[in-house]
Amino acid sequence: MTGVTILGNWKMYGDVALLDAFAAMDLNAFSGGFARPGLAVPSILLSAAREKLAGKGWSIGAQDVSEHPQGAYTGATSAAMLKEAASDFCLVGHSERRAYQHESDAQVAAKIERLTEVGIEPVVCVGETLEERETGKTDERVTTQLRAVIKPLQAACASGLNPCVAYEPVWAIGTGKSATPAQAQEVHARMRELLGGEGLGGVRLLYGGSVKGETIAELTAQTDIDGALVGGAALTPEGWSAMLKAVA
Ligand code: PEP
Repeated sequence: MTGVTILGNWKMYGDVALLDAFAAMDLNAFSGGFARPGLAVPSILLSAAREKLAGKGWSIGAQDVSEHPQGAYTGATSAAMLKEAASDFCLVGHSERRAYQHESDAQVAAKIERLTEVGIEPVVCVGETLEERETGKTDERVTTQLRAVIKPLQAACASGLNPCVAYEPVWAIGTGKSATPAQAQEVHARMRELLGGEGLGGVRLLYGGSVKGETIAELTAQTDIDGALVGGAALTPEGWSAMLKAVA
């Protein structure tokens, strides 16, 4: 896939009225520069997103999936259910889920396997906390999280999917404090090297953490940054317009 990949994460925000506002956007007004943009919406909005944004150039994604294929797991959503709701991609291992739902690296790996079984592209999130960065443990943390998903990522690629890895330093998410392009590039270069050594050099690497229209161009101009995973700025058509114009 060529062009900058931009994926938005709506988290637990948004409703049908917001989908209508996105449906009114004309992506053709933005020339080139970006690959098909994507919206990871709450699962309950997946079908409405598909219906309202069909044929308008967006890919549609979910924010999480169960690591189990099916069963007595009240409140959970299976990969097959996401597929039926026409999800193109799905985030896994977002730091908010790792922190609040105590998701382990093993669970993240199993979730990638479930998505691969049904043909949904995984977007795997990794990243260090502020304490880990300040104590020089960024590399160790990101490497551990990546090593845990090498096998399922290899299986995803072998089955023809195009997974992404998103480097999202926890201290930069929702804080307004982005990593500098140099800080992000340094981690991305190491991720590229590690993944490349495992036959995964083609995996797209996204940066996430307070990205917006004013910062996206410089970040994605870095050699190893193929795109962005965006929270706050992806919640409004105006935020998207600013980002799409910046990378066009
Ligand atoms: C995110 O939710 O993945 C994210 C990067 O959020 P924000 O852009 O608001 O920091």
